[in-house]
Amino acid sequence: MTMNPSRARIVAQGEDSGGPVVYWMSRDQRSRDNWALIHARELAGSNRALVVAFCLVPSYPGATLRHYDFMLKGLEQTAHDLREMNIPFALLMGDPAQELPALCEQIGAGLLVTDFDPLRIKGQWLKAVASRVDIPLLQVDAHNVVPAWVTSDKQEYAARTIRPKIHRLLPEYLEDFPELEPCAKSLELPGPDWTTARALLRVDEGVGPVALPSGESHGLHGLVTFLDERLLRYAEASNDPNADAVSKLSAYLHFGQLSAQRVALETARRARDENAENFLEQLVVRRELSDNFCLYNPQYETLAAAPEWAIKTLDDHRDDPRPYLYTLEQFERAETHSDLWNAAQMQMVSTGFMHGYMRMFWAKKILEWSISPEQAFMTALTLNDRYQLDGRDPNGYVGVLWSMAGIHDRPWKERPVYGKVRYMNENGCRRKFDVGAYIAKYG
Ligand SMILES: Cc1cc2nc3c(=O)[nH]c(=O)nc-3n(C[C@H](O)[C@H](O)[C@H](O)COP(=O)(O)OP(=O)(O)OC[C@H]3O[C@@H](n4cnc5c(N)ncnc54)[C@H](O)[C@@H]3O)c2cc1C
Repeated sequence: MTMNPSRARIVAQGEDSGGPVVYWMSRDQRSRDNWALIHARELAGSNRALVVAFCLVPSYPGATLRHYDFMLKGLEQTAHDLREMNIPFALLMGDPAQELPALCEQIGAGLLVTDFDPLRIKGQWLKAVASRVDIPLLQVDAHNVVPAWVTSDKQEYAARTIRPKIHRLLPEYLEDFPELEPCAKSLELPGPDWTTARALLRVDEGVGPVALPSGESHGLHGLVTFLDERLLRYAEASNDPNADAVSKLSAYLHFGQLSAQRVALETARRARDENAENFLEQLVVRRELSDNFCLYNPQYETLAAAPEWAIKTLDDHRDDPRPYLYTLEQFERAETHSDLWNAAQMQMVSTGFMHGYMRMFWAKKILEWSISPEQAFMTALTLNDRYQLDGRDPNGYVGVLWSMAGIHDRPWKERPVYGKVRYMNENGCRRKFDVGAYIAKYG
């Protein structure tokens, strides 16, 4: 079985010298169920060596020790698993635009393959690398079930417009993964030096590691546990933060330690009921809608990415009196008047994960209690990306924009501060779940 060729696209043409194939692993940090790696292995065939290279930048916008620790532990496992397949793992450190071309030159690489990421910084790295290598550079979407550029060639308006496109393509793309065969030919490269890598990090150590175990095997274990124990509650209780009904797989998905396609395949094998349907809607439709948004809307990091009606309504209500006003620092320290909001903030700070329903409430209240929509947006993104283990993800930009600025939503009844942006309040939470129990747990 070979990979469906539409999962790949050519980033740069060049001359294939017949030398080793390099897979520049970036977003999809796993050895299993990884179409970019599978394609690179296919291209290596039986005559060429395959090298997996990861370029560690010592600091990344918004990332803290919490994120780097999780990532490095996962990569260590992946490097080990690749070695068993006779595939060396090169841990490069520094600017990808320098390090990747240097490695390709050093080993006489003939082909360079990488994975897909719609975020700006990754696009800039890709462009810079492409301009400095003279071998073919291919990109494979190993993150989405349906490659983002196949699903749509434009920004989709809402879930209802992307859903039929994805569903029409699922029979073709939601397929089993072929087994990755060990490489016949290998290359001697120095093993990764994880201690030096950690010593070189220039990140905020104030936000420390969390208990969630990192790595591919833990991601798969998390999936099995969810399917065995919690999927059956998903339809009824996924909006209840006390119910333990959601998958908590977002960090594994964000770091690419777990393939969304694997999660979708195993879920569909397990159940075809309302629980599976609702879960797959989030995992596939909503998640791939976020990638679509960041791929086609270059302003995704700003409020200017919002639809016109939302920009106008927020502006119309810019001068409305706010019932409470807090600074970024007060929000960060969970010093608001609301025990429920503070508990959500504390869940995120202490565990690296906030329940999805609380994320909506949390962001909407930041809008309500900030001096301006711009300040609110900056506060929510800063805190989200600093403390959530799954932060700095297309889902994060879209989640905050959905909550504050009507992205993928519609206008609702007009109110102070929010204008026509959908409103949420604590009473709504009280109707949905036991607010006291949540506060007792995290507050
Ligand atoms: C303000 C706000 C900020 C958010 N920030 C992030 C973030 O930084 N990173 C992140 O991955 N998600 C973010 N989300 C989306 C969502 O809340 C989380 O993905 C989800 O809560 C993670 O928990 P889970 O894995 O248990 O989800 P489950 O309910 O088990 O869903 C399974 C998977 O589906 C995807 N998913 C679930 N809900 C959504 C959604 N609303 N939009 C897109 N994909 C979804 C995620 O990949 C998730 O892991 C944010 C949402 C909001 C409202």
